[in-house]
Amino acid sequence: MLIKKLVVGPIQANCYIVGDEASKKGIIIDPGDEGDRIMKEVEKLGLNIEFIIATHGHFDHCAGVARIKDKIPDVPFIIHEDDLSFVKDSKNSAMRWGMVIDQVPDPDRFMKVGEEIEVGDITFTVLHTPGHSQGCISLLCGEGIFVGDTLFEGSIGRTDFEGGSLDELKKSIKEKLYTLPDDTVVFTGHGAETTIGVEKKFNMFVRG
Ligand SMILES: [Zn+2]
Ligand SMILES: [Zn+2]
Repeated sequence: MLIKKLVVGPIQANCYIVGDEASKKGIIIDPGDEGDRIMKEVEKLGLNIEFIIATHGHFDHCAGVARIKDKIPDVPFIIHEDDLSFVKDSKNSAMRWGMVIDQVPDPDRFMKVGEEIEVGDITFTVLHTPGHSQGCISLLCGEGIFVGDTLFEGSIGRTDFEGGSLDELKKSIKEKLYTLPDDTVVFTGHGAETTIGVEKKFNMFVRG
């Protein structure tokens, strides 16, 4: 499995391009900005993208979708239904942060919790991890998990945005993430990777 991380946009979100080396099939997770740069990287890797997925609807995780869709219009953009309002409001939300972005296109469909998304030989399982927003999901794939803004290295996601809840966030982390094996690699929405074991031990906000 090939994982390429690109730090995109002024909010420095982590976009991940994940590919199956044998079949050259791939997925883009959290294209938060710089859609053209992401697509250049996809071409360099020689991948055929099958899905574009946002871990949640905040614009710093999907503002690159419009430019990506210009290049690969038939590839479905998928989010959790509960974050649709953020996608609809993306251009305005970015403006409130002093940023100009392309309006994020409407999702092609919504993901189902527990759904398995197959990309070549790689299987991603959709976990619902609300708290940072209501429609936050995590994508579990083998010994790795893509968590968006739910859990960070030594920190947790903000809960002061619309739909945020600290209680729910803690519950998601404890019940959905900390129950995974300690050596599971956590690919975060911002900043460095970590592991479940390290966060259970050292995370000051939610202890395992
Ligand atoms: Zn967010
Ligand atoms: Zn974010």
